Amino acid sequence: MKHVNVALFVVHIGCPHRCSFCDQRSITRVAHKVTPEDVHSAVETALASLDGETASEGEIAFFGGSFTMIDREYMMSLLDAAYSYVKNGVFRGIRISTRPDGITEEICEILKSRGVTSVELGAQSLDDRVLKLNERGHTAKQVEDACRMLESHGFETGLQMMTGLYGSSDEDSIETARKIIALSPATVRIYPTVVIEGTKLYELMRSGEFVPKGIEETVDLCAKLIPMFENAGIKVIRVGLHSDGDTSKFAAGAFHPALRELCEGRIYRDAALRELNNMTPGKYILSVGPGQRSKMTGQKKANLSFLRDRGYDCEVAQEEGLTKYEIKVRKKDAS
Ligand code: SF4
Repeated sequence: MKHVNVALFVVHIGCPHRCSFCDQRSITRVAHKVTPEDVHSAVETALASLDGETASEGEIAFFGGSFTMIDREYMMSLLDAAYSYVKNGVFRGIRISTRPDGITEEICEILKSRGVTSVELGAQSLDDRVLKLNERGHTAKQVEDACRMLESHGFETGLQMMTGLYGSSDEDSIETARKIIALSPATVRIYPTVVIEGTKLYELMRSGEFVPKGIEETVDLCAKLIPMFENAGIKVIRVGLHSDGDTSKFAAGAFHPALRELCEGRIYRDAALRELNNMTPGKYILSVGPGQRSKMTGQKKANLSFLRDRGYDCEVAQEEGLTKYEIKVRKKDAS
């Protein structure tokens, strides 16, 4: 059985706000209003790629915008189109993303009746001051209430958080992560702020009021956030803004096509340094689990250079049985 997901972007429609950082058209380059026909055609295209295998582990996802706040008739038409593939068992369920204030008891009932299984909420921050500064138009309490409502209706819940927002410090982001963990969602997406032309953040940056965080400091922060979530059993399903390749409107901030890899490399680097700090400078072998070698080495061997500058000349080896982020350190000339 092949695993296939279908994603459709419902851009901006339904958003009662224009958040300080958001210009979804730049991100997705979709100006077109998704129709039920688009749903059918995207699903049929995905199914055609399966060569007759079933897709029943997959989901049909409506991302972007504020799905539950769009015109009700339009929302139902999209859900009905997707639900026809869930009803007959071709797909496992439907995933939507929306704003926390777009969740009510009535909406939960509707989503449930139409085969929605997962709901992602754009929380972005759980600090009311940061939410207000970035014109989110909802409070932290609304995020918490929405999570509880979704949980009581049996949805798998995902939360999206941002780092580096206007008026937000690393400590604020860590505190938001702690509050998210307390809500125990199944998944989290971490979106470090990218300044997009035409947004309020762009204007604030130009006036000097907002200084966006760069890649280095973002990687440092996310290397703390990812283990916080993973250690709490929350799956981090994305780190960094997704782009279809056109980044011409990305004016500043933490955009990197392999941001997650950089963050995971930083986790390995810091863990290795912690181990090596107890040892005398010299040559060492750092063993990591299967598939983790490039993360320990770092992009362009940056982690090895970093350790070498501190007196530790390291080689990386792979060893079965080691878990993610686990490192076994041994002196090179030791047997
Ligand atoms: S609610 Fe979401 S889609 Fe709407 S403006 Fe804010 S970030 Fe963008």
